[in-house]
Amino acid sequence: MRRVVILGGGVGGAVAAMELSRRLKTDTEVVLLDKEGRHYFPPSYPWLVMGWRRPEQVWRPLSRLKAPHVSLRQEEAISIDPDERRVTTDAGEVSYDHLLISLGAQLDPSAIEGFAGVAHNPYDLEGAMGLARAVRAFRGGKVAIGVSRLPFKCPAAPYEIAFLLDYYFREKGIRDQVEMEFFTPEPAPLPAAGPAIGDRAMALMEEREIPIRVKREMDHVDPEAGVVHFKAEGQMAYDLLIAVPPHTTCEAVRRSKLTKEGPWIPVDRHTMRSSYDDIYAVGDVTSIPTPSGHVPLLPKAGVFAHGQAKVAARNIAADLAGGPEVRWDGYGLCFMEIGYGKGGMVRGNFYGEGPPSIRMRKPSRIWHWGKVLTERRWLRKLFR
Ligand SMILES: Cc1cc2nc3c(=O)[nH]c(=O)nc-3n(C[C@H](O)[C@H](O)[C@H](O)COP(=O)(O)OP(=O)(O)OC[C@H]3O[C@@H](n4cnc5c(N)ncnc54)[C@H](O)[C@@H]3O)c2cc1C
Repeated sequence: MRRVVILGGGVGGAVAAMELSRRLKTDTEVVLLDKEGRHYFPPSYPWLVMGWRRPEQVWRPLSRLKAPHVSLRQEEAISIDPDERRVTTDAGEVSYDHLLISLGAQLDPSAIEGFAGVAHNPYDLEGAMGLARAVRAFRGGKVAIGVSRLPFKCPAAPYEIAFLLDYYFREKGIRDQVEMEFFTPEPAPLPAAGPAIGDRAMALMEEREIPIRVKREMDHVDPEAGVVHFKAEGQMAYDLLIAVPPHTTCEAVRRSKLTKEGPWIPVDRHTMRSSYDDIYAVGDVTSIPTPSGHVPLLPKAGVFAHGQAKVAARNIAADLAGGPEVRWDGYGLCFMEIGYGKGGMVRGNFYGEGPPSIRMRKPSRIWHWGKVLTERRWLRKLFR
């Protein structure tokens, strides 16, 4: 009996498990291993902050995944030995013939002095709920919101949260008592989508009186003084601090032989194969140089993890059962809520050469509903 092991049951892992369950015959066992046994839908976290979703609406147990021939193990991967084809977990060991790694990015607030327990982190369920409570209790003052360090997943999400908070404070009638300021280490908003889309995001921020400080990488937070200090220059005072924490990968990935120059796994950008023929990696755990080079690396986003997971799963099925190799094309689509029941939509080929061929559709009610439907369809399509 051959065995394919999938590490991580987030976007990439869940999609790969469904694809392999459909494609592989009964002579191959497929194991899906995830430390939490739950699948989360992070695009809904900004709605959680606004009080428009309850926590139980944005996750599903992996035991309800529509992948009938896949066995689920709720275990934490501790180490990966690519030479011995073995994963060690907190409950034992599992060997594999093919491995698909979709362990995502790990948030690391402890990497910045003064961050943990002070800055609100909207990037996980617990943090988003904590922020929702803080926003509800906020009566006025300075909101500093932004991104601590690069890289980070979903480049649109911090801007989306800023737009929604501006909307919330206006609806509540306290916007004139709230000063908002945005910081980011990026050279401009959404750099991977090109300068035209960056300018449009900048204009949306200006319309809402949210100044942006670019090229500001967080150095440390001084909670006593209520000030964020940046590496190169400057500082920003806050009464309410909201920041995307630094990202890294879990120890199993960091200590494996699969990484190179940092905690991420380099893969072939079309096949998703790593430096080992029998190991594929998809989603946030990877580092993928872009051909155009106007941003060095492909951004981290669920839409990419989804497309890459289908391709990696098909290539594993082809390795095992024969068939042509398939290639991922770099296409992506992303919604960005702006409040007032409206959203924008960005889409295009992130592997395009030359000037970015990515377009942003004008914010309207259509794209807000596009995101609502995507959430519903995602959870219904994947889970019983
Ligand atoms: C607020 C927010 C909004 C977002 N909005 C969008 C959006 O609108 N569009 C979009 O495309 N993307 C969006 N994203 C990004 C998207 O959620 C991620 O890019 C996507 O989830 C990446 O998928 P993945 O499979 O690589 O990792 P994940 O989905 O993070 O899955 C990783 C899995 O690995 C498991 N795991 C981790 N370590 C271990 C271990 N050692 N052992 C076992 N299991 C482990 C975790 O439990 C998790 O289930 C958003 C993200 C956030 C935070």
